[in-house]
Amino acid sequence: MEPPLEGVEFSGFSKYNTQLKILRLDKMHPDFGGNKFFKLKRNIEKIKKLGSPPVLSFGGAYSNHLRALAAAGKMYSFKTLGLVRGEIVRPLNPVLKFCEANGMELHALSRSAYRLKSTEKHLDLFRNKFGEFYLLPEGGSNREALFGCAEIPQFIPQTDEGSLRHIILACGTGLTLSGIAIGSSSLKNTKIIGFSTLKAPGYLAQQITKYLHSFANSFARKNLAPWRVEDNFHCGGYAKTDAGLLEFIKKFNKETMVPIEPVYTGKMLYGFSQLLGLGVIPPGGEVIAIHTGGIHNKMSSSQRV
Ligand SMILES: *Cc1c(COP(=O)(O)O)cnc(C)c1O
Repeated sequence: MEPPLEGVEFSGFSKYNTQLKILRLDKMHPDFGGNKFFKLKRNIEKIKKLGSPPVLSFGGAYSNHLRALAAAGKMYSFKTLGLVRGEIVRPLNPVLKFCEANGMELHALSRSAYRLKSTEKHLDLFRNKFGEFYLLPEGGSNREALFGCAEIPQFIPQTDEGSLRHIILACGTGLTLSGIAIGSSSLKNTKIIGFSTLKAPGYLAQQITKYLHSFANSFARKNLAPWRVEDNFHCGGYAKTDAGLLEFIKKFNKETMVPIEPVYTGKMLYGFSQLLGLGVIPPGGEVIAIHTGGIHNKMSSSQRV
């Protein structure tokens, strides 16, 4: 299914004459939509070619990545192993419950071991314990994911207006932005702004540069659409919220009926509205917001707060 690009009326943007369109990646699949679909699709092709070995990956107890991986494993018949940071508390929260219900084998990893999870020593420990596996890094952020996300801009039409256009998205690892920057190279008058969901100034721009250098060739790197990361709209840190953010989300949901949540898509739209308010972004123009997903059901989205 192609993700729809929906024009949305929202007073917080229209008062600046800024036209909002939302690319609804969340509508592509109920369990397996959002940016995680694009991050996983080329990995799934590779896993199938390898004869469907078990797939091992990592995440926090509310990880959208583990959730999507579990759904993919069920759908494409490969075993999934989810190594969860910290303790696994039972009864399980809705995200881990979904993972287990979709066949994912969950194992707790202490916070200290979690930090070292990608070292050769720890990968060997995991191989001894679980046998051979296909490794997906945290957030699924590898080369296959980068080129999967580079497909996202094909759903964004060329602009014929001379005025500037922004593509905006929420960033966790920054991999999705890296792919979109590659895939947007031929879009005219278009700049990409990522909104960091983490309290870590400078970190995501560095990560994005690292992904582009390790996974993309120099031609792709020379032809990137212009991009930057805004680091000041995390509302206290990852999965943290403040009153302004919650109020914004309520208002947005009420006016537009488009579901957004406080961890990712809410911070992106709230952040952009503040840039408009501050005059950092001039009035007018068009903004294409990437709806990266993160809405599972009422129970899990309220649990995430
Ligand atoms: C995982 C996720 C992101 C972050 O994607 P990155 O590629 O890690 O930057 C953004 N939005 C939602 C809803 C997500 O689940």
